[in-house]
Amino acid sequence: MSGLKCSGCGGSIRYHGIPNGVQYTVFPLKNWEKIISTVYDPNNERIHEEWKVPGPYLYRADTIWEDFEEDYFEVWVCPYCGTIAVFDDSKIHVKSVYTPANENIAVDKRAEKFVVFSDYDWEKIEDSLIPVSEIPNKFKSSYYAMANSNYVWLFHSQSKSDCFKVYKRIVIAAE
Ligand SMILES: [Zn+2]
Repeated sequence: MSGLKCSGCGGSIRYHGIPNGVQYTVFPLKNWEKIISTVYDPNNERIHEEWKVPGPYLYRADTIWEDFEEDYFEVWVCPYCGTIAVFDDSKIHVKSVYTPANENIAVDKRAEKFVVFSDYDWEKIEDSLIPVSEIPNKFKSSYYAMANSNYVWLFHSQSKSDCFKVYKRIVIAAE
């Protein structure tokens, strides 16, 4: 996906793999905890032709996108109005859209937790060759998030008192 019409304001959003503040990489917290506790095996580095061969693998920061491709999804944030488009597992189709909420909605304590990396922060991780277990010591996630079917809350830390932004889900027409 390299271009998208924003469901919120109609603006065109572009992303071509170079960080520009548009794309965010999002892991459910439970997946992220699994990834960063994965054992690093330096003797099992895969080569390109062996992608289909089952592991064990070299679980390293620069191969996380393929080693754990089922464990994360991508979202785009409109640079004009802040609307969030959430891509499905194919990372091509938008499955839901959230727009900045004006109301101050209390955090749903049962909402699912997520770890969020901006494209700038994610590029730094993917450019490093460290075992995934060292990521938390060397890189901080850009944001934390919680989401239920209606709202997304963004946080600067894992503390619920650090909520700084709320988004509300909007209905989009099926493509
Ligand atoms: Zn927009």
